[in-house]
Amino acid sequence: ESFDAMGLRENLLRGIYAYGCIACVTCFEKPSTIQQRGIVPFCKGLDVIQQAQSGTGKTATFCSGVLQQLDYETLACQALVLAPTRELAQQIEKVMRALGDYLQVKVHACVGGTSVREDQRILQSGVHVVVGTPGRVYDMLRRGALKPDYIKIFVLDEADEMLSRGFKDQIYDIFQLLPGKLQVGVFSATMPPEALEITRKFMNKPVKILV
Ligand code: AMP
Repeated sequence: ESFDAMGLRENLLRGIYAYGCIACVTCFEKPSTIQQRGIVPFCKGLDVIQQAQSGTGKTATFCSGVLQQLDYETLACQALVLAPTRELAQQIEKVMRALGDYLQVKVHACVGGTSVREDQRILQSGVHVVVGTPGRVYDMLRRGALKPDYIKIFVLDEADEMLSRGFKDQIYDIFQLLPGKLQVGVFSATMPPEALEITRKFMNKPVKILV
């Protein structure tokens, strides 16, 4: 199995191989197990649950799935990724930007502890993807700085961790504001009852991948 056989955009493949070389402890020559099983269904627009620990290559899985599906002609936010911590959100932002380098993707991380004004300014200037923690993302939606109308992909990374940090209500509030037709990806190391409830409420016939 290789990245080449996944039907990805040429410029996404270039980003994947180039990123592998920068991050090169272990090269991105071959997709990891989760990538082999997860990227293609995600790119098809299917809802995907991946039960996987960090270190399995899950970030590149959903970043590739998002980057493959964006319309780069419009500067509307089309994908929203939620993560439990500021550090993780910023890490995902970096991976998304690196893999999407040749696609000229515009990504912004909305996290607490940074300037609200600056977030508003960047969102108003136009981005394709927002990665963030639930609190700041909800704030940006409520203020009208983040427009949900064109969001078509919603990813919850480390869903179990977000729930154990008490983000459940905020995740539900955000979900209520998103368009009805939405692809949902849930990544979680464990599947506690609250995480299963999220998958039941938000997802439509999800593909389940256990690594
Ligand atoms: P994650 O599971 O997303 O936290 O990623 C774990 C680590 O694996 C990161 O440092 C990635 O750079 C690396 N990684 C992800 N996919 C691959 C791959 N296909 N080949 C080699 N390393 C990878």
